[in-house]
Amino acid sequence: MSSDAPVLKLYNTLTRAKEEFRPLDPANVRMYVCGPTVYDYAHIGNARPIIVFDVLFRLLRHLYGADHVTYVRNITDVDDKINARAAERGIAIRELTEGTNKIFQEDVKALGCLEPSVQPRATEHIAEMIALIEKMIAAGHAYAADGHVLFDVPSMPEYGRLSRRPLDEMIAGARVDVAPYKRGDMDFVLWKPSKESEPGWESPWGRGRPGWHLECSAMSWKHLGEVFDIHGGGIDLVFPHHENEIAQTRCAFGHETMANYWMHNGFLQVEGEKMSKSLGNFVTINELLHTENFGGRKWPGEVLRLAMLRTHYRQPIDFTVKALEEAEATLNRWRNTVRRADYVEQRAPVEFVNALCEDLNAHLAFSLMSSYAARANRVSPLVGVEPGGPYPSPVSDEEASNAAGELVACGKFLGIDLVARSDQQLSIVQLQLIDARLAARAAKNWAESDRIRDELAAMGVALKDNKDGTTTWEVKR
Ligand code: AMP
Ligand code: ZN
Repeated sequence: MSSDAPVLKLYNTLTRAKEEFRPLDPANVRMYVCGPTVYDYAHIGNARPIIVFDVLFRLLRHLYGADHVTYVRNITDVDDKINARAAERGIAIRELTEGTNKIFQEDVKALGCLEPSVQPRATEHIAEMIALIEKMIAAGHAYAADGHVLFDVPSMPEYGRLSRRPLDEMIAGARVDVAPYKRGDMDFVLWKPSKESEPGWESPWGRGRPGWHLECSAMSWKHLGEVFDIHGGGIDLVFPHHENEIAQTRCAFGHETMANYWMHNGFLQVEGEKMSKSLGNFVTINELLHTENFGGRKWPGEVLRLAMLRTHYRQPIDFTVKALEEAEATLNRWRNTVRRADYVEQRAPVEFVNALCEDLNAHLAFSLMSSYAARANRVSPLVGVEPGGPYPSPVSDEEASNAAGELVACGKFLGIDLVARSDQQLSIVQLQLIDARLAARAAKNWAESDRIRDELAAMGVALKDNKDGTTTWEVKR
């Protein structure tokens, strides 16, 4: 590898440090991300890990080759929330999970996400779950009691390592009203009995169903092996879900680790508040895409995606109408830039890939894209006048076209199509008028500037001159 070859660094929750990523097998880089429980529409918070790990999947494919990355994102289709919802709606469980999964797949496709290599369903991995439990029992880490099987938490001294909760403190702090079949307060369910009306599978411990944590240990084992590279999900999953996954997998197989890198996205809130049904700010991906329930209009998937990616994945994100409008304005500016500059196909520049390799440094990646846009617009990035025009500038036609091509390539890398047309797209004549107006303003010819503004307004293009010297527009229809 040459010296400027990108080195991927990822923040590892396990060590609380940014580390150089070294896959176990560069010919098969393996990543597991906890997927949805398919009982209802996915909300915009659920979309965050889907989008963030999609970008990581794309980056890994770029670095190791598209055929050398296996990305597994599961579908949890057995869960008490599912049972309750199906009963409430008076439909079969399978009908509920099939319908919800179909919508989920459409939603995430509209958000520009690639399909993972495998999307295993929990209900198709019951045999693996039973096998895992048997291994844990044989190794002295689990016990059957009263139709249940429980993981014996005190049998694993390293329990709590991921979430950095000392085992003795957790045991001391655990609730006292513990189920009678549990030996220890912290012990968690691997298998539980099912009533006649509940979904269940025959097992050595009677007819029953798995605990949620066990599902991910079984599916990651089946599709990625006993130890793999990256395990991801939202920050809320660190404890207890991921802690318990680690306990199960490590104790079943006796390895030092389950996955080498544990990655967690920050939480999303809406207009400054935690999303909740009672606050009335609960917003699904589906309604953002297809209804006017948020900000009084529909939002294209790419706007949602761009808005999501502009914040670093570990930071909390505030999902607001304003942020969506800003993302849309950026998208439209870039698309017009690409169109006007007559882009020439390019690869994503190494500096851009390097930015993503720094633990997915979105801020740097987007500011690089803005600098390519500025060059394509023949504007010094320092001046920032958009959309550019006939200024004395050292940027040649060829350079401008190449810069536009780089912008397109970066967009593509992130799953955002900058060549597509949008309903905010301007015609070439309108773009030329904006250029002419900027030239008039630069020459302090205010009468001409105002005349052009009116001419554009008559065409339905409303201009807005921003404090930072840029001009943006809105197409009124
Ligand atoms: P769940 O269906 O609750 O298990 O969540 C599925 C995924 O979405 C998990 O990775 C969660 O961590 C993530 N998630 C849920 N709510 C949010 C939120 N408000 N912000 C960011 N991620 C979330
Ligand atoms: Zn999981």
